[in-house]
Amino acid sequence: MTQNASKTASFLIFTDLDGSLLEHETYSIEPAQPALAALARRGVTPIFASSKTAVEILAIQHVSGIAAPFIGENGAAVYDSTGKVLTAFGLPRKSWLNEVHQLRERMSFKFNGFSDWSIKRIAELTGLCQEDADKARIRQFTEPMLWQDTQTNFQLFLKELQKLSLTTLEGGRFFSIQGHFDKSGGMKWWQAHCSESRPFLVAVGDSPNDMSLLAAADVAVIIKSDKSHKLNPVGPATVLRTRMPGPAGWNEGIKQVLNLLDSQQLLIL
Ligand SMILES: [Mg+2]
Repeated sequence: MTQNASKTASFLIFTDLDGSLLEHETYSIEPAQPALAALARRGVTPIFASSKTAVEILAIQHVSGIAAPFIGENGAAVYDSTGKVLTAFGLPRKSWLNEVHQLRERMSFKFNGFSDWSIKRIAELTGLCQEDADKARIRQFTEPMLWQDTQTNFQLFLKELQKLSLTTLEGGRFFSIQGHFDKSGGMKWWQAHCSESRPFLVAVGDSPNDMSLLAAADVAVIIKSDKSHKLNPVGPATVLRTRMPGPAGWNEGIKQVLNLLDSQQLLIL
């Protein structure tokens, strides 16, 4: 049953980074600053939920003046504010990457991923500087890749991955080869372990790898992107779609959530 959230209801915000809080190409956070400041005034710190590595997320938190726990590598683990793993949902990448490469060899699948690329190549493909590309390269749980083969072979690849207890998730730039986890697992874990009362949940994302997070929230904010039309979560009582992409959209979406909350028009479960 849905209800209007009271003005003073406590809430948590889980947000994607690339293409949501961060601009897709430049990685700028600037246009989101007014909404971040409005949240800070209410004592709300956004919890980052990203496909990025812990080292990358810590660097972004540092630049944003945020120190908080976060969800890394597409929900593979929840980390504390120092980057220590609090809980892990994924098997270590080093335990399965060789098998995936053997599978590629055996079936002649055409794809390349982070483990195949130099720092320079990762920098070219992501738009990151080489120092940041190096932070992105050191992954514990996921292998982002570009598929260069047919759709039929992709389905075959997925079937073979199943035998290794692996799957893929589509992000803004890459497909991630990983275990059966997603960002919502981290959000639910966080809610169960770290909240005394039941706060309502706001999730923000722009790509299919955010779908689980958006679907499990009370309020979903879908940031406009090339892929946002694919996102149709049915779970949330409120679904907002921004007109603008990236951090400008983030600013727009969060301000809309706060306005609805203040006018007691925000529907939650
Ligand atoms: Mg994204």
